Amino acid sequence: MKKDRKVVLVGTGFVGMSMAYSFLTSGGVDELVLIDVDKEKAIGEAMDLQHGLPYARNKMIIKAGDYSECSDAEIVVITAGTAQKPGQSRLDMTAINAKIMKSIVSEIMKSGFDGVLLVASNPVDLMTYVAWKTSGLPQNRVLGSGTILDTARLRYLMSEYLNVSTNNIHAYLMGEHGDSSFVPWTHAYIGSKSLLEIIDEKGHDLNDLNDIYHQVQQAAYEIIDRKKATYYGIGLALNRLVLAILNDEHIIMTVSAYMDNDYGWENLYIGVPAKIGHEGVEEIIHLPLNEVDQAKFDKSAATLKTILEETIQPVIVSE
Ligand code: NAD
Repeated sequence: MKKDRKVVLVGTGFVGMSMAYSFLTSGGVDELVLIDVDKEKAIGEAMDLQHGLPYARNKMIIKAGDYSECSDAEIVVITAGTAQKPGQSRLDMTAINAKIMKSIVSEIMKSGFDGVLLVASNPVDLMTYVAWKTSGLPQNRVLGSGTILDTARLRYLMSEYLNVSTNNIHAYLMGEHGDSSFVPWTHAYIGSKSLLEIIDEKGHDLNDLNDIYHQVQQAAYEIIDRKKATYYGIGLALNRLVLAILNDEHIIMTVSAYMDNDYGWENLYIGVPAKIGHEGVEEIIHLPLNEVDQAKFDKSAATLKTILEETIQPVIVSE
């Protein structure tokens, strides 16, 4: 029997703990269990968070545990893996992290877990596929953080550029969480007005949009060069996603979702806008992409598909 609002986190590194910490201030989670291959770290992190509980938003149980804790969890969030090093692309980490993902998800499923599996480990689209294949769970109940962070970066930069609240920036970064992502600008709205119309009316330069996209795409590399890892942004984005699932919010976010003849692709996880609720991905939002954007989507999907076939499949079928 699932316990309401019980979340298990696998991987108590920078990303996982940024999300874990954020639950103390946001509230919305009743029980949080921390698992890590480094058991002492998980215990230490749990103790540190427990000591913040007198100042937390709501009463919570926080503890370190093992995979048996997944049996009655509503959500298991996986942020385990090796972090991106300076100069290393997300895809470089693929084979190493695929093996780690497979072993973690096997342990989770042995517990009898029957909730929603949320993956943030990179390369996230490919790791989500490994998690889905290993778990045997329905596609909709396995999802990745996809381009939620990239979309947040985009909304932040556009809000600065246009001097409009991030709440009113409706624009998505789609595709791989990585170098082949893109923004379908014809589907970007400020309030309910088309961004391209606004740019035209205000006499802004369309090239500014390319600059903004470029900044979003380079953001992770720049942060990693400066401080070795990125974690607060993704931690908060994961918090938002977890609460959307727990509260059955039907919110639209750009997650890594399974393509089943969506956007012309199948048997692949990739970042698209999707409606998120209690069962994970409730619906893929189909934006009618123009020819240029569909070509960008196809390029991004093809990049992932090649790695899936060449690097991921051998790991999935191996003993
Ligand atoms: P980190 O090195 O700080 O933490 C990783 C944790 O995973 C460590 O505590 C490690 O002990 C643990 N771990 C490793 N193997 C394990 C296993 N088999 N079982 C359980 N735990 C295990 O790294 P980080 O900065 O927290 O990044 C974690 C992951 O998140 C990386 O893959 C990183 O690329 C990714 N990330 C994703 C996004 C995104 O937008 N999706 C953003 C930033 C980072």
